[in-house]
Formats: sequence, structure tokens, C-alpha cells
Amino acid sequence: MREFGTTIFAEMTALALRTGSVNLGQGFPDTDGPPAMLERAVEAVRDGLNQYPPGPGVPELRQAVSEHREDHYDLAYDPDGEVLVTVGATEAIAAAVLALCEAGDEVIVFEPYYDSYAASVALAGAVLRPVTLRPAGGRFTFDPAELRAAAGPRTRAILVNSPHNPTGTVFTRAELEAIAGLCAERDLVAITDEVYEHLTFDGVPHVPLATLPGMRERTLMISSAGKTFSVTGWKTGWICAPAPFVRAVQTVKQFLTFTASAPWQLAVAYALRHELDWVADLRTDLQAKRDRLAEGLSAAGFEVYRPDGTYFVQADIRPLGFADGLALARELPSLAGVVAVPTQVFYAHPERGRHFVRFAFCKRDEVIDEAVTRLRKLT
Ligand SMILES: *Cc1c(COP(=O)(O)O)cnc(C)c1O
Repeated sequence: MREFGTTIFAEMTALALRTGSVNLGQGFPDTDGPPAMLERAVEAVRDGLNQYPPGPGVPELRQAVSEHREDHYDLAYDPDGEVLVTVGATEAIAAAVLALCEAGDEVIVFEPYYDSYAASVALAGAVLRPVTLRPAGGRFTFDPAELRAAAGPRTRAILVNSPHNPTGTVFTRAELEAIAGLCAERDLVAITDEVYEHLTFDGVPHVPLATLPGMRERTLMISSAGKTFSVTGWKTGWICAPAPFVRAVQTVKQFLTFTASAPWQLAVAYALRHELDWVADLRTDLQAKRDRLAEGLSAAGFEVYRPDGTYFVQADIRPLGFADGLALARELPSLAGVVAVPTQVFYAHPERGRHFVRFAFCKRDEVIDEAVTRLRKLT
């Protein structure tokens, strides 16, 4: 694990604190989730729900997750056996990779990727097979031929994150069909990271890979409360999959954490049933924040990729005369008093993302405005 040393987030957050910069680096909201949900967590603590909950998760949450999948996606998962509550999506991904991959097995991932993917694959002794998302027509996408070429005899699984962090791409049905076709042809298992499932903009729909023909039986569908309800610190996630997969993942999970914290689970069960209108408002707000930041970054001289979902905007730094995003990210606090994240750290081939930096817009309007005002100094 040596190569996974300190994450870029630790470095950039420390830099933001040291320099008093506006931090648009790390992707967490600076406002709270629905008040009634927060109150449910407090009540759960006061009511004494403070001991180990069942390993698979509190029954109320498994039931709520199952109902939510059925209502939104017409996907039926048995709350007893096909739903597993995890310590955030991060644990679900790690446990799934550890459960499914033997040493030397290969896992296809789209780069740039969420930083825990490469680490989880390494922990399993498996091998990362990156497929690069490249800009085309104002969004990031993959070449289906490159995807097919990534699959070999040792390929076991594909990790699919849509809506995608950090590019903001929401895979279209055609893109998902290409992935599903490869899974069927090569008998791959799909692990889907759908933590931004509700955070898509301009009416762009999120289509779960498991809803495509033949995919439910070979997909482990992962999501989490963190992004949906603006409680990234709660680390409450879940995985929905056919029972044999869930059993395998739970076998691993029981020795990672055994179970996830009880009070949050009850509060999230409540939120999945009663706070989806709040989430709709969050989506509307975030879309306006996306536009606010994207326009500000364009005015500051960046070439901006307006995302269809997530918390993030990709900005090409070359129009401002910079070439290397990592060097710029380290200099940006002194140049402009703003912190961003260099996208190249999310690639197996860093040179392919060298000229991008990622800005987060899940922040109060005044924070975004202050960042944009400061960034105008760059021109
Ligand atoms: C935030 C994030 C996660 C982590 O989710 P947790 O529930 O906090 O573990 C996983 N994947 C992506 C793409 C994310 O952006």
C-alpha cells in the first residue's frame, strides 16, 4: 500500500487551512441534511439504539432501501438476503472487490476514478485495467473499442460509477448497453457506484446498469446516504444484489467492520421514506450552483465542462497558460487563494488528465462567489 501514501485531499485541505484559501477541493456540502432526518438520529441515540445492530443492517433500513429501488427503478430486492448495509459506499466497494476477486484477477475501471477504487483493487491483490474517459462533444466518454480491448481472460469485474466523479458524466443508455454487452459476452460481474443517483441536472435521467436486460443477476448495485441527504459524515451505504453475491460480500464485511452504526441507519430509513422532496430541492439548488461556478470559471478563463450530475466541474487550465494541474493546484492558494484538486491523481495514466483540475460546487453561494472573484486574478 506504500504507493497510496497520503491522499491529495489531505494535502489540499491542509494547504487550504494554512493559506486561508476557499476550499473547492473536497466534495462535501457545507449545509446540513433534512432537519427531520437529523432529529431521527438524535432520537435513536436517546432511545438507546446504541448497541451492535444486526450484521446485514437494521431491518427498517433494508426494507426502506428495497422499497426505494422498487419505486424508482422497478427493481425488486428482497430486504432479507439481497440488501446489505455498509459503512458508506466505500466499504461496499472494498468488500465487493475483496469478495469477488482472487489475486491476479483483473478489474476494469474508467479513469479518472474515485480514489478508493485503485486501493481496493490493490488490497485484493487484483489488477486494475483502466479505460480512459475523454472529452468529446462537451462531456467525457469512452471509446467502446477501448472498453472491449480492456477485457481479457483474467477479467473478473467492471466497476462503473455513474453519475461519475470527477467528470460529471451520466452514462447514456447507449453507453450502458456497451458495458452490459461486454459483461454478458465476457461473463463479468458489474459493481456499480451510484452514490450520485439523485444528483443529475437538466432532467438527465440516471439509469442503473442493473435495469438493463440480463444485468440484475450480475450486478452489485451500491449507493449511500452521504450525497443524497448531504450527510457525508454518516458513512451509511448499501449494496443490493442477488443473494449469493450479498452473502459473499457480507462474509468479507463482517471482518472489516461487522456492522454499521445503528442510529444513522434508522435516520436514513426515515429519510428514504419521507425526504425525497427535500432531495428534489437539493438537486435544483445544485444545478444552480453548477451554473454559478461554471460561468464564474469560464469568466476566469478556464475551459469548463458542464457536468450532467455530481458535485464537480472539470476545468481545462490550458487557456490560462498553465500545463500541469498538480503544479497549478499547489500554486493556486498563493496565486488566487483558492484550493482545487488536480484531476491527474485520479488516473492510472496521469498524463491523460494533466491539464484538468476539479472544482466542487456543493458549497454555499457566497463561497462559490468568493472563489470565482479570487480566480479572476488569474487572467
Ligand atoms: C463520495 C463518494 C463515495 C463515498 O461514499 P461514502 O458513502 O461516503 O463511503 C463513493 N464513490 C464516489 C464516486 C463518491 O463520490
